[in-house]
Amino acid sequence: MSRRLDTINAQPPSTLYMAATLFQKVWDAHTVRTLPSGQTQLFVGLHLVHEVTTPQAFDMMRQHGWKVAFPERTFATVDHIVPTSSQKRPFLDVMAEEMMSALERNCRDAGISLWTPESGNQGIVHVIGPELGLTQPAMTIACGDSHTSTHGALGAIAFGIGTSQVRDVLTSQCLALDPLKVRRVEVNGRLNRGVYAKDVILTIIRRLGVQGGVGFAYEYGGTTLDAMTIDERMTICNMSIEGGARIGYVNPDETTFEFLRGRRFAPAGDAFDRAVAWWRQMSTDAKASYDDRVAFDAAAIEPTVTWGINPGQSVAVSEPIEAAPDDEALAFMGFSNGSKVQGTRIDVAFIGSCTNGRLSDLEDAARIVRGNHVAPHVKALVVPGSQAVSRAAEARGLNEVFIEAGFEWRGAGCSMCLGMNPDKLEGRQISASSSNRNFKGRQGSPTGRTLLMSPAMVAAAAIAGEVVDVREMLEGVPA
Ligand code: SF4
Repeated sequence: MSRRLDTINAQPPSTLYMAATLFQKVWDAHTVRTLPSGQTQLFVGLHLVHEVTTPQAFDMMRQHGWKVAFPERTFATVDHIVPTSSQKRPFLDVMAEEMMSALERNCRDAGISLWTPESGNQGIVHVIGPELGLTQPAMTIACGDSHTSTHGALGAIAFGIGTSQVRDVLTSQCLALDPLKVRRVEVNGRLNRGVYAKDVILTIIRRLGVQGGVGFAYEYGGTTLDAMTIDERMTICNMSIEGGARIGYVNPDETTFEFLRGRRFAPAGDAFDRAVAWWRQMSTDAKASYDDRVAFDAAAIEPTVTWGINPGQSVAVSEPIEAAPDDEALAFMGFSNGSKVQGTRIDVAFIGSCTNGRLSDLEDAARIVRGNHVAPHVKALVVPGSQAVSRAAEARGLNEVFIEAGFEWRGAGCSMCLGMNPDKLEGRQISASSSNRNFKGRQGSPTGRTLLMSPAMVAAAAIAGEVVDVREMLEGVPA
């Protein structure tokens, strides 16, 4: 099964003839018409679906006798509810088994490709899309999950949508959307050792605010982004939504093209060269103007950790917390204004999620873990973002590094990113987590506490038993 999924219009967008951003060009190229409401009806090139937001959408369609318009542009996986300790069917959780069965039935009836744990290609929807080459530059993508912005790392315009919109896309392959403004978020310079893409995006959200991006698409660029791998760009784009932006993207470049070359659903042979020419044409023009611009100095970014209950409440690990003394987040988390997160004893260490569950994330963490042991009071999990990530990590012996150090090596899934499967915090436990949300109750316990940080910082915390500055643990470790 392999086919090309290009969404190239027969008519080039009018924005090709003036200086425009990638967002404007892609929007223009996929516009079907302007609706009476003033919204734009946008064609969706790729629809990614999973078990959580689809059962009701398919039920609604069945009631009306509607069919899936483009099953060949629709791909499914299972991620949120899948247990990571044993993926044997039937799942022990009856509701999880029902959701899995419903997805299997709906995909079979509609002719949609589905990757189950038996397929060898299952994983978190935002990990498998790029991995399989389904995600491509200048494409419009929709998925019933907030972190669909991840796919922007390859220059796609990717929207997280709700259940009724999932129904709309299934039946019409279109979405009704309001246009967005574009903010250029530029990061320049070299990151210091021990500072990762996660620290960059946490710093961006801290400065611009969790509502700062409302109404915007974030175009990330600058020399720091230019030097990043696609994995790192995915970490950045993934959390755009946490800064309020509807989407985030990076213009496609040689790094993007090399990432896609040879992937299963990417164009092949001459078609690949033609696609690259098109992707270049769709990138933001040098003279394009933006609705807003902000800039960050990479060298000033430190390992960053959240102290509060939204991803904007973060601090450099060496700094004290600055907050209003009556901020409810301080009381919930057990911190006080002026205290430090560094030194906080943790109960759980979680390395995984669509933000930081890729091979390079596991490699960064393994570099810290190798030859060390998890603190006795810490439960530590490594959950690869996909079965392909798991295989690649195992081929490099990373599973053995983690297991020897006392981590649990799990099957692919969302796991402890959110409490929809058996991996959950208990009571007031504190988790050092490489995921993207630290909302109250996010990791399964209403009173559980989440400290977001990079996978390397999570690994360091697991070893030390408390939040530490990963830079100290990197001393003497070969780069
Ligand atoms: S890993 Fe977390 S954020 Fe990503 S898709 Fe799964 S639940 Fe959503």
